[in-house]
Amino acid sequence: MKKIFYLVLFFPLIAFAETEGPLLNYQVVIGNDLRAIEVSACFTGSIPSFLYANDASGSFVKNVRLDTGEVLVLNVDVVAIPLNNAARCVFYDVLLEPRDQGEQRGGAETRLIEERNMLTSIGDWLIRPKSNANHETFGIDFRVPDDIFVSTPWRRLGKTRFVGANTPVAWEGVVALTNRTPNIIEVDGSVFEVSILGEFDRVNREDLIHWVTRSAQGVSELIGFFPRSQVQVIVSPSDRGNSVVPWAYVTRGGGAGIHLFVKRDSNLEQLLWDWSLPHEMSHFLFPHIDSSDYWIIEGLPTYLQHLAMVKSGVISSAESWSRLFRGFALGVKAGRGFTVAESMARLSKRGTYLHVYWGGAAYFFRIDVELRSRSQGEVTLLDVLMKYHGCCYDEIRSISGDQLLSDLDSLLSDDLFVRRKEKEIIAAKFPNYAATFEALGIQFLGNNPVFDSDVQTGLSAQIMNPAGFHH
Ligand SMILES: [Zn+2]
Repeated sequence: MKKIFYLVLFFPLIAFAETEGPLLNYQVVIGNDLRAIEVSACFTGSIPSFLYANDASGSFVKNVRLDTGEVLVLNVDVVAIPLNNAARCVFYDVLLEPRDQGEQRGGAETRLIEERNMLTSIGDWLIRPKSNANHETFGIDFRVPDDIFVSTPWRRLGKTRFVGANTPVAWEGVVALTNRTPNIIEVDGSVFEVSILGEFDRVNREDLIHWVTRSAQGVSELIGFFPRSQVQVIVSPSDRGNSVVPWAYVTRGGGAGIHLFVKRDSNLEQLLWDWSLPHEMSHFLFPHIDSSDYWIIEGLPTYLQHLAMVKSGVISSAESWSRLFRGFALGVKAGRGFTVAESMARLSKRGTYLHVYWGGAAYFFRIDVELRSRSQGEVTLLDVLMKYHGCCYDEIRSISGDQLLSDLDSLLSDDLFVRRKEKEIIAAKFPNYAATFEALGIQFLGNNPVFDSDVQTGLSAQIMNPAGFHH
């Protein structure tokens, strides 16, 4: 009898603990013009001493006050909460001033797309405490005009309700208010919520969904699963530039997000042939790196986008080798005698990003081949990444590039990653990719790969392998 008594008592307690919810809850009321927003942030317990936003919020956020009536000041990006108050809620108003001219070229920004789609940078309007034990997550509930849907990087609980991970304020994120239903797709257990803003000339909704799905499958097949379980995808039309995807970037604030600007007149074939989306998705194979090591941040996706595109069947392995070869050659040329590390220090001034991106890609390519050839194909760079996801990948914290490399080395019980950085990124002008092609038995006639039958290691076929993940 005693046992039964405990069970009856125990289960309701657990259920209660699970439904208790976050200690901070937002109500966000969006005006019909999508510009005016009223926010209330209510805390269970006292309000933390400081609340933060980004430094653009000062021009959008007005009328900050406590539920006790006390008026507060947003000082650039911080609101100080007076000591010893009995307040539980902060109220404020927002008037967004979206850009609608020119083309987006940076990270998240507040921008109007075709009248009824508002992109917002979360830090522009969401004031919040730094993450700590009490505030690792928050609840957020929107009230929107009848025709409007909300896209966020947060975990969806309902049409307008979410639970947000309180990632560092500096991590950008996008909340989009759109007049079309988001599209939900699932790839190997990961959920992609795709919002399409505006109209395209030659592709419809199904085409864009197909493009996202194929790209995600390719990346997923690299390590057997997609590196994030939930991804917000936003596709906006662009009328400028010559490339199919003139601009794209990833965000990690609140969760994984990818925002792509797609040339309005592109067709499906061009989209599948383009590297941008597999590249952006490959960024999530690594966690957030806070040390400006762009050769690592960009080098890994720049290499792996090629393997992913072969896996998803959108390019052939010969095309993929050719793209790598041409990319490395462009990277060397852009170096103008500097090392990759030196170019990185001058990145903003000299525009030598090709040297940095492709130098990093060549480093990861050479490490992949080294790992495969010393193990007769048993161990690959992808295995190391998969292991890293099992033990160490943190979605809500940053890591430095050096820490990441030494973590990868520990997984290998080696110093390969750190040693090669010293040699190829800091000391040499560019990683010696030509020697690696030679070791693989690949020569190039023009830009076309020719496979040497005498040096048939089988490794080249293993690297650019259209078959999916098998382990
Ligand atoms: Zn990138």
